[in-house]
Amino acid sequence: MFNETEYRPTRAIIDTEAIKHNAERVISYLPQRTKLIAVVKSDGYGHGAVRSALAALQAGAGMLAVATPDEAMTIRKQIQNVDILVLGTSPSSFVKVAAEQGIVLTVTSDAWVQQVNKQPPNVKRCRVHVKIDSGMGRIGVRTETELAKLVEYINQSNHLSIDGAFTHFSRADEKDAEPTRRQFQHFMQLVSCFPEKPRIIHASNSAGTLVFPECALDAVRYGISLYGIAPSKVVEEKLPFPLRRAMTIETELTYVKKLPAGQPLGYGGRYESTEAEWVGTLPIGYADGLKRGLTGQEVLIGGKRVPIIGTICMDQCMIKLPYEFPEGEKVVLIGKQGDEEITVEEWANRLDTIPYEIAVTFSTRIPRVYS
Ligand SMILES: *Cc1c(COP(=O)(O)O)cnc(C)c1O
Repeated sequence: MFNETEYRPTRAIIDTEAIKHNAERVISYLPQRTKLIAVVKSDGYGHGAVRSALAALQAGAGMLAVATPDEAMTIRKQIQNVDILVLGTSPSSFVKVAAEQGIVLTVTSDAWVQQVNKQPPNVKRCRVHVKIDSGMGRIGVRTETELAKLVEYINQSNHLSIDGAFTHFSRADEKDAEPTRRQFQHFMQLVSCFPEKPRIIHASNSAGTLVFPECALDAVRYGISLYGIAPSKVVEEKLPFPLRRAMTIETELTYVKKLPAGQPLGYGGRYESTEAEWVGTLPIGYADGLKRGLTGQEVLIGGKRVPIIGTICMDQCMIKLPYEFPEGEKVVLIGKQGDEEITVEEWANRLDTIPYEIAVTFSTRIPRVYS
């Protein structure tokens, strides 16, 4: 199971069956006509882009999506025969390669189309999805006039052909449904202005998919929940089916000692033992994604919760032990042990952020091991 070159016991165990299960569940929940676009940007939200994509495709996903042209190229080297949509902007110089590689690009501006048209003609046209900004305020055309002009430019281009149109929700994970309804309405209004309906119209992210089934259209772009994580607390409470978490972060105790009372510990001596106590050391630190702000966060050992104590170092940290444990004892930082579970949401709450940021925070120094 483990790569021979990976000696440190700190690992991310990725349950590809869970990813496959999550994809199967959402596919059976979606209307028949709605395709699942598996979003595998940022290395599959930290789970490994290629392995996550393969699991989703096995379950029946119809397309992949990433954020950047480089991410699309990395996946294309290992997975052929499936369209990969780049959700962000791409430089016009990428169009030729994208056309050859079956990579579908997002188009947002006339200036970009003009840039593309200046290039020598390609053998193949590059397929594009037109991005409509219905309220996110990030990229995309916002009005009927802007859309009409952009579509005209694309239709006059020998380099491009329209394959789809999409928008992105900014508040589908919130309690108030009104902003999402307004965005959807604005989007559909603009979509009706296409002289010819693009093949694939899509709007929903995970939150949209799970909470607004009426927005499913021809496809949904399903990211965070593919990995078993709800986009927010509000969505978690409304889930139409349970999600299965796919990532466990685990390590082992590498050092154990009994500290006498009144001993400072770690950089800055910020922790001091109040009594004689057992302390364990773990080979994981902030360079791995265990942020310094996580002092006090609990980990699981022997099926029990124990806190991280002292300042978290770059490569190691210390935990308080209730009694002596042997070196080599398994420790879980994210995931289950016995009846206990520590989730990315728990870290996110402590760090005042969202579970997405935690999922992508584990560095490449932690090997991904696929179970
Ligand atoms: C990241 C992203 C998604 C996926 O969002 P989730 O909330 O992770 O499902 C969908 N669409 C676009 C444009 C994105 O950038």
